[in-house]
Amino acid sequence: MDEYDIVVIGGGSGSQVATAAAEAGLEAAVIERGPLGGACITRGCIPSKALIHRADVVEEIRRAEQFGVAAELTDVDYGEITSSIRETVYEKAEGQESSLEDADNVSLYDGEARFVDERTLEVDPGDGDDGGERLRGETVVLAAGSRPMVPPIDGLEDVDFLTSDDALFLDDRPDELVVIGGGYIGVELGYFFGAIGADVTLVGRSETLVPKEDDAVSEVVTDSLESYCELYTGYEAAAVERDGDRVVVTAAPSDDTDNTDDETIDLEADQLLVATGRRPNTDTLNLEATNVETDDNDHVEVDATLETTADGIWAMGDIVGDQPFKHAADYEAQIVSANALDDAGREVDYDAMPHAIFTSPQVASVGRTEHELEDAGREHESATIPFDAAPLGMILEAGDGLVKVLAAPDGEILGCHIVGPQASTLIQEVVVAMDGGAGTVDDVAEPVHVHPALSEVVYAAFDELSSQPYSTAPDWRDVSSE
Ligand SMILES: Cc1cc2nc3c(=O)[nH]c(=O)nc-3n(C[C@H](O)[C@H](O)[C@H](O)COP(=O)(O)OP(=O)(O)OC[C@H]3O[C@@H](n4cnc5c(N)ncnc54)[C@H](O)[C@@H]3O)c2cc1C
Repeated sequence: MDEYDIVVIGGGSGSQVATAAAEAGLEAAVIERGPLGGACITRGCIPSKALIHRADVVEEIRRAEQFGVAAELTDVDYGEITSSIRETVYEKAEGQESSLEDADNVSLYDGEARFVDERTLEVDPGDGDDGGERLRGETVVLAAGSRPMVPPIDGLEDVDFLTSDDALFLDDRPDELVVIGGGYIGVELGYFFGAIGADVTLVGRSETLVPKEDDAVSEVVTDSLESYCELYTGYEAAAVERDGDRVVVTAAPSDDTDNTDDETIDLEADQLLVATGRRPNTDTLNLEATNVETDDNDHVEVDATLETTADGIWAMGDIVGDQPFKHAADYEAQIVSANALDDAGREVDYDAMPHAIFTSPQVASVGRTEHELEDAGREHESATIPFDAAPLGMILEAGDGLVKVLAAPDGEILGCHIVGPQASTLIQEVVVAMDGGAGTVDDVAEPVHVHPALSEVVYAAFDELSSQPYSTAPDWRDVSSE
């Protein structure tokens, strides 16, 4: 049996721990059952953002006339879009695999890992043979990620449906699509399919889409998605049925909302996308052979250093589930590397952990929402500035967008929520202020901002809550010749 200093299960962000171990002169192994790079490269962030980019191009053409540019959208070569994205991401995954295989001191095992005992793993290569190769690790890292969660909807098991795993690389665009799920994957893919011309119906359980975001943001996203999808918020899918080559989803008013309709509705389409969240891959690992404990949602329980309840077994990424984003998994890989390899005792700190949603408009957020602060009884002030208060926001006609800042009375930044063009980039200066600086509104309001960039909207929002007004620029909504 092969013996290693460290064995990592899952070749997404977890492979970074193996590489760090190898660089430190240790012998490391990665066990991966699919393409290297994890969900992000071939089933998540990258292909979905590539599709969203194509939808943005289509939208730009559609909006061109609004800006005096005559442009006509004549065709969208759907098959070409998905096949070129597929080719690019799989090439990158193969490139990652080759560089890992070429690295000194790292071995890659191709197959599904399961524990035999707390330090021994068996790798099932998936060829049907009983009993795969076994290996032992002095230290083990659980980085096996998550997969689409399929809810127990009546009849779902009897119909063909898509999850985000399949929906990214379809050969043909669905003409009509029902999306179940108003979370970030639902609104990203709902926007994509709607923008490129599919008739999309989106069913979301809460009163607004992306309900975990600050209310101000959820409302803008919900209004905007009306342009791309027929929306049924406050409904949940109760049953699904095939009708010839079509699918019928019966949606009922959701208990989570004030929706007082008692009528169920039938929504029909040629295809169904189930985007109701993700579940951790803990059930693939035979954790019963270890002392690793999981919580009620099957996520691995860890302490603040990311060690599990079993000595010498660490966990990170979506399988822990605290912050299910790629950048969070990468951050956790740094923490696990420091702690498992150097005994550094570093603790995770998610206070300045941002996230983004690449729908239309983009969303980005860091810190607490106003709702969370209210629930925690935390005293706070807030300022909300629309994008068209700054000149570039006005030029782009992005007045639906906004920046909302939440701060403690002493100026500590408690949260920032952005919805509008380039939100995912605009949030970064707030993250830097929260993470590196004193974390006060003055840390964002005091530095000079480029004119006329969209960062002036962020500047204006923080300036409103700062201890003194730094900006002398006018609010562009008030500027007129009258
Ligand atoms: C459609 C979509 C869009 C997304 N967009 C974004 C985004 O824009 N930004 C963002 O930050 N995040 C995004 N995410 C989330 C992001 O992909 C994940 O948070 C991130 O990939 C988690 O990394 P990980 O290393 O924990 O898990 P993964 O990347 O999933 O890696 C885990 C690996 O473990 C393997 N594995 C599982 N079980 C076993 C086993 N028993 N044996 C061997 N191997 C196993 C899996 O095959 C997988 O490759 C998106 C996800 C999806 C689905």
